[in-house]
Amino acid sequence: MTTAYYTHADCKRHEMGSWHPESPERLQAIEDQLIASRINTLLDYREAPAALESDLARVHTADAIYRIRENCPSERSEYDHFPLDGDTSLNAYTWRASLRAAGAAVAATDAVIDAEIENAFCAIRPPGHHATSKEAMGFCMFNNVAVAAKHALEVRGLQRVAIVDFDVHHGNGTEEIFNGDQRVLMVSFFQHPYYPYCGTEHPASNMVNVPVPAHSYGNVIRELVSEQWLPALEAFKPEMIFISAGFDAHREDDMGQLGLVEADYAWITQQIMRVAKTHSHGRIVSCLEGGYNLSALARSVIAHVKILADLE
Ligand SMILES: [Zn+2]
Repeated sequence: MTTAYYTHADCKRHEMGSWHPESPERLQAIEDQLIASRINTLLDYREAPAALESDLARVHTADAIYRIRENCPSERSEYDHFPLDGDTSLNAYTWRASLRAAGAAVAATDAVIDAEIENAFCAIRPPGHHATSKEAMGFCMFNNVAVAAKHALEVRGLQRVAIVDFDVHHGNGTEEIFNGDQRVLMVSFFQHPYYPYCGTEHPASNMVNVPVPAHSYGNVIRELVSEQWLPALEAFKPEMIFISAGFDAHREDDMGQLGLVEADYAWITQQIMRVAKTHSHGRIVSCLEGGYNLSALARSVIAHVKILADLE
């Protein structure tokens, strides 16, 4: 059984200005490092299909979908941006990239459930975990992981899925979408207080939100994973696990102030793999979220994918 790597060229055409840290170069850095590490040949490369609007509509309001679809500048105005919030904007390719990003997550979900592959990493942008049912925010258009999780539940008939979020920022969109939905368990840690300044006030019983102070290192994160995430995941017995895989908690990433290194991402991935093998037939779909220091991002993704693909 193999690990699939889903991506699409359109995901590199969406950009929000040459100054913006959520840049196309992020995907290029990951691809370069896969080649340098010689693991590119061991993965099953798959082109992401475009999600259907009906896939998005399981999560997002018609208005939220309309706002992205109708406001992208025309392809003739390649450098035009339509602002959604202070740091999130649309260019001519954002709609297409967003469909490919969500489509990768949905296609990977189908391939994993159909046992064509054991698990998958989706190298996609725009990222998704800040996008709520009603609005795009924080570099995110549509909530890729939420769209895929709803597909697993409502189209493929799974009863219980878990979402693991190790991005430095709280996945407020995913929390809003699944708040109180007992078919879903979400476990996360995030720097607090920090953007998007939520996640700590009375979370629902299906949310294991673990805030951590700035300057926490891997030992703190490993302890909370062992003591809070793993018991919750073991008790929930998910039939499939989705990962919101952000790598901006890395020590070299200036976007946040946490101190993880590649070995920590490998260790976290091992713990998730163990739960997936015990309860979920090994089914994991991991989707790229943040990670803005190009070198640290690429090295961390390699560490993560090597564990997923059993190469370590
Ligand atoms: Zn982030």
